[in-house]
Amino acid sequence: MTPTLTPCPNFIGGEWLAPDGATTPVYNPSTGDVIAECPAGGAPEVNAAVAAAQAAFPAWRETPAVERARVFFRYRQLVEQNFDKLCATVSREHGKTLVEARGSIFRGLENVEYACGVPSLLFGDTLENLARNVDCETYLQPLGVCAGITPFNFPAMVPLWMFPLAIACGNTFVLKPSEKVPLTAVLLGELLGQAGLPKGVFNIVHGGRPAVDALLTHPQVKAVSFVGSTPIAKYIYETGTRHGKRVQANGGAKNYIVIMPDADIPRTVEALSTAAFGCAGERCMAGSTALTVGAAADRLLPSLITAAQAIRVGRTDRPAPQPDMGPVITGQHRDRVLGLVATGEKEGARVVADGRGVKVPDAPRGFYLGATIVDGVEANMTLAREEVFGPVLNVMRMDGLDDAIAQANASAFGNGAAIFTNSGAAAREFKHRVKAGMVGINVGVPATMAMFPFTGWDDSFFGDLHIQGREAVQFYTQQKVVTTRWLGEGVGDVWKK
Ligand code: NAD
Repeated sequence: MTPTLTPCPNFIGGEWLAPDGATTPVYNPSTGDVIAECPAGGAPEVNAAVAAAQAAFPAWRETPAVERARVFFRYRQLVEQNFDKLCATVSREHGKTLVEARGSIFRGLENVEYACGVPSLLFGDTLENLARNVDCETYLQPLGVCAGITPFNFPAMVPLWMFPLAIACGNTFVLKPSEKVPLTAVLLGELLGQAGLPKGVFNIVHGGRPAVDALLTHPQVKAVSFVGSTPIAKYIYETGTRHGKRVQANGGAKNYIVIMPDADIPRTVEALSTAAFGCAGERCMAGSTALTVGAAADRLLPSLITAAQAIRVGRTDRPAPQPDMGPVITGQHRDRVLGLVATGEKEGARVVADGRGVKVPDAPRGFYLGATIVDGVEANMTLAREEVFGPVLNVMRMDGLDDAIAQANASAFGNGAAIFTNSGAAAREFKHRVKAGMVGINVGVPATMAMFPFTGWDDSFFGDLHIQGREAVQFYTQQKVVTTRWLGEGVGDVWKK
């Protein structure tokens, strides 16, 4: 039976506008069915959304920070009340399990909570008597219209990294969600309206490159936050900055996990299989390569293989039964991952846990892959360089910690890295020398929470100020320094009268 298509309107100036032009299909990756048609917006829609956001800016800028915060207190409650619906939408359009969807929305919600603290986050500095009779103070003021362009892999969390704080800081916002997962964004927008956000402060334009290009070149867009793959992040940064905008652009990743011979093996196996196979490996913080040091490989691999083979793959688009792992986003993406594993084999690596033939009998057209482990990956192989973004764990065998750090540091990316060990000295050496912005010690996915910046390095980030935390407050505001002199003598010396 063909499912009824879920509406996917743009949201401009407080109005939900049904698409009247070209669209692209949105799939339920669990079944392979088309569940919605995403509008392929471009310059006309972006121009209308930016005009609405620009018109809403003066009043929103003047709204006291405490009142802006209250909108997000209400929003927090509404997201919580609609939690199940949001999780079901994320699972249906993305393929995350309900447990993973819940986790990701909680992570997003922490960003809403952070935005609720905006009155304190916007405190400036003061210095009395900077010079004789002169005082100095700083204010953090909003920029104007900000834009967010988001990837498919976290339909709720990544937009929530951006718009709550941007808007709480006094900006207005245009979100361009991934055209592969636009339905969660529609729900997030509906809840913002219910929270009492004035019309035009938040807008959604759906689409792909034409919508992105219109945002990047629009003179009234002051700042662009982007999360996605490295080539596009670089393009967004270069194009946006060339058009005079602030840009923060998170890119792809290849995250290494070092396992020392003294690591607690059962705990490491648990953490590693979550890091590698959680969210079907479609995470920028996925631990996609295990660097086993010395005897660690032989201690680790038998139970890691057993754990990978025990992962049940299946449909995530219904409340029960839920699998351990859902599908990947599209058939095309599954074929790309399969191609990378085949290249690994051709280049001499060995598949020691093989999820390629996984079958889900009640959903034969879903985009499934099982957990896969490739051992014997060497530095010169394609698998050692490229981001796979699927449930595939590479194993690279290292002689010592120095080799492992050198391998991690040779990566073009610099998002996350982790070490599993009981040695404080090894952990210290690793955290000091590894070239990555987010480091875990006996933590497999050291993704940062809302109050800390999401600090990718190298090809994992283009820009100066990262998403989340204090850096994000700086990104969404500009400083004004006011220098004041009041002369206390002569005419106007009123307090003596
Ligand atoms: P993507 O780069 O294909 O798409 C991201 C966004 O860019 C989407 O909104 C898309 O519509 C737009 N886009 C795509 N092609 C474009 C083009 N040619 N010109 C202009 N815009 C374009 O990424 P994706 O496949 O949706 O997401 C997966 C990638 O995102 C992975 O590389 C992953 O590592 C990365 N990611 C990074 C982080 C991080 O914080 N570093 C977090 C999540 C995902």
